[in-house]
Amino acid sequence: MSSYRIVTIPGDGIGPEVTASALEVVEAAARAHGGLTLEVEQLDASAERWKRTGVALPDEALAAAAEADAILMGAVGLPDARHPDGREVNGDVILRLRFELDLYGGIRPVRSFPNVATALRSDEPIDYVIVRENVEGLLASSVTRIRDEVAIDNLVITATGTTKVSELAFRLAERRAGKRRVACVDKSNAVAAYAFFREVFDQVAARHPDITPDHIYVDAMTAYQVLDPQRFDVVVTENMFGDILSDLGPATVGGLGLAASGDVGDAHGMFQPSHGSAPDIAGRGIANPTATILSAAMMLDWLGRQHDDADAVELGRVIDDAVVRVLAAGQVRTPDLRGTATSAEFTAAVIGALA
Ligand code: ATP
Ligand code: MG
Repeated sequence: MSSYRIVTIPGDGIGPEVTASALEVVEAAARAHGGLTLEVEQLDASAERWKRTGVALPDEALAAAAEADAILMGAVGLPDARHPDGREVNGDVILRLRFELDLYGGIRPVRSFPNVATALRSDEPIDYVIVRENVEGLLASSVTRIRDEVAIDNLVITATGTTKVSELAFRLAERRAGKRRVACVDKSNAVAAYAFFREVFDQVAARHPDITPDHIYVDAMTAYQVLDPQRFDVVVTENMFGDILSDLGPATVGGLGLAASGDVGDAHGMFQPSHGSAPDIAGRGIANPTATILSAAMMLDWLGRQHDDADAVELGRVIDDAVVRVLAAGQVRTPDLRGTATSAEFTAAVIGALA
């Protein structure tokens, strides 16, 4: 029987609530199905901690995260936790983990759920994945500021980084039961660095003849996400474009409470809901834990593939199916989906639906 060491970073606001729900579901599924044990260590890395001690992610916590098989995060950040230069404290935790652990691929599924209204006109199911380059591009730039006159950022695209994230996208398309397509989203018609991104993407595409490559300019992409999202399977793009497109995607389907995410590299993986700490509803027991439960399911799938462990992959699938079943039935829903259930009631319903 395989055993994994998971660290959790519950974080701030609703983070601890949704993390606890997800762990409860994972532990119930592991008990019911056997084949897997988890050793869980909770780390205190948060904006709250930063306010108390001046350090959001202590070195010991970083070391523990690096030792673990996977990281499950709730949400880090609070509206009043900012450095004097305006940077948010959540970057001290999330960006530092991304860079130190080389979590170069941001995996952001955009999927509709049966019986959950989307913001779009068509009822056709939506199911695609945005793979965001996480550690280069415009968001990893060095900034030059000259007095109050000029600020210059550097857009950094490397062949190595683009190859790694493109490979990740093609491998994902190969194992999804999807349309077997990977779209490269860029702005190669206007920016040389993005033309380079596309060039490297094309080299990777040539090594995956079983998958159809596609090219889309980022401006057109935003329209397609609204008007024709069914055309997509896997989408790969640069850091800042990915940041923007992966906010738009979930907004078109069921909202923030449903959007899972993973940040993965060759050796490490961190999984967390796409939403933030939602301080307005923290402590009231009404947060929607779906995004975190689905992120935990992604974590199990990733662990299973890393360790060639079919039981873990299966457990991820079982949890995902249970969430879909509860949402489809429509009886138990949290207030963000116009229901009246508490987080605890929703969590219990998911556990009850584990088949
Ligand atoms: P951040 O800067 O940390 O990304 P944000 O300002 O983008 O935060 P979120 O915390 O992601 O905001 O959420 C915005 C609003 O959406 C929240 O204030 C909350 O009302 C709602 N929301 C977000 N996540 C959930 C959830 N899991 N369940 C219910 N409502 C949520
Ligand atoms: Mg946000």
